[in-house]
Amino acid sequence: MTEKRYWDEEMETKSRDEMRSIQESKILKTLSYVYENSAFHKKLWNEKGIQPRDIKTLEDFQSNVPCFNKEMLRAYRDENGDAFCGMLCVPTEQCIYSSMSSGTTGEATYPIFTKRDMDIAAENGARNLWTQGLRPRKRLLYDLPHHPIICSMVGGAIKLGALALNKAVPITSEFELERHVATFKYFKPDVWFLLSPPAVSIMGDYFKKKSIDPKNIFPKGMVAVYGGEPVTEGMRKSIFNEWGIEILSQGGTGDFCWINTECHEHDGLHCPDDLTFVEVVDPKTNVPVPAGEKGELAITTLEMQAAPVIRFKMDDIVTMTDKSCTCGRTTSRLYYYDRKVNETIIAGKSIFPIEIRQLLEEFPETKDGIGQIVRYADKMETLKVRVGYDPVITKDIKKLEAKVQTTLYNALGVRSIIEFVSMEQIKSLSHKFPRILKEY
Ligand SMILES: [Zn+2]
Repeated sequence: MTEKRYWDEEMETKSRDEMRSIQESKILKTLSYVYENSAFHKKLWNEKGIQPRDIKTLEDFQSNVPCFNKEMLRAYRDENGDAFCGMLCVPTEQCIYSSMSSGTTGEATYPIFTKRDMDIAAENGARNLWTQGLRPRKRLLYDLPHHPIICSMVGGAIKLGALALNKAVPITSEFELERHVATFKYFKPDVWFLLSPPAVSIMGDYFKKKSIDPKNIFPKGMVAVYGGEPVTEGMRKSIFNEWGIEILSQGGTGDFCWINTECHEHDGLHCPDDLTFVEVVDPKTNVPVPAGEKGELAITTLEMQAAPVIRFKMDDIVTMTDKSCTCGRTTSRLYYYDRKVNETIIAGKSIFPIEIRQLLEEFPETKDGIGQIVRYADKMETLKVRVGYDPVITKDIKKLEAKVQTTLYNALGVRSIIEFVSMEQIKSLSHKFPRILKEY
């Protein structure tokens, strides 16, 4: 029997028109359910004078239903003392799992799920893992502690008949790296989640220090799933050439347990369109932007029971396409750019850390692309960047400084102050690398 190409061929290859009509009917059903049961949504819609009966089409939905963000949820929690921010639509006794969000943009919140929600999360996970190359009887190594997407990753692996090993502690130090190396050697995962920016840097240093050829460390054909921030092409190529492993980028959120992933074509992250409705909106007006234009990601869940979300703005700046991928899937695909919260205005220009990273990758001395934007005042005319560099191969730091300044000026149109620091100093112990430092 030939192996199936897609985990759920019907949903992953449906025509856009058919998928849109599925989404429309699911949204119309969800709106009444959420209005009746979620105190947060009811309050928000009442304030805007919106009732579910006013919404009859997807167009009505996109032009009338308000978006919200995490700040609004936290404000609701502070006001009402409700741990679940007014989102819970079922009695807690019907829920079987709750967790903490990673809290990268503020105080953590508590996602909560029914058994059915966890099944949906596992279906989402199985599709993702299949796209990444996991198959029955193959192995997943998953290391991220106490995070709700464990429902998707482990549940997904079980659903498709693979073996999942949850190592729980990601690579944050040489000690953890050595434990991973042993796991690569003995457990031999086919898919490994999570390769993160600090892990790349710790591993690179370790291989150099011990004169190890990384190609001898990783199991043959292993896919490394990269998360925490978008992959740059420079990083993807250098890891493939030097370490011999393919990187696939994965995005998502633990807030309602949703993930998406690149396929082997590396052309945007496939979204599960029958489980969520994904929009790209203007961050200020909440109006959807034209296809291909940058905006903020907003998500509506179509199947969640305990705490569904309607037009939840995720703080991610993305672009989206709904053209078919060369892998044959017809789902919408997202290209992640950066976090909205990372946007820094210098001399009236909008600058994101990912732009700095791509530029730093051009130089051998700073090829890891590790840079942090230093916010030193409310209003800034000059860009200040802390840059991680390799002192061993840097012959003349003044010359390097001038080269980096010219490159930044030509690409971004702003003058810069560069502060070079060794990689040791700049490394973070978190799986998410702080790209912005506030110094005032
Ligand atoms: Zn694809």
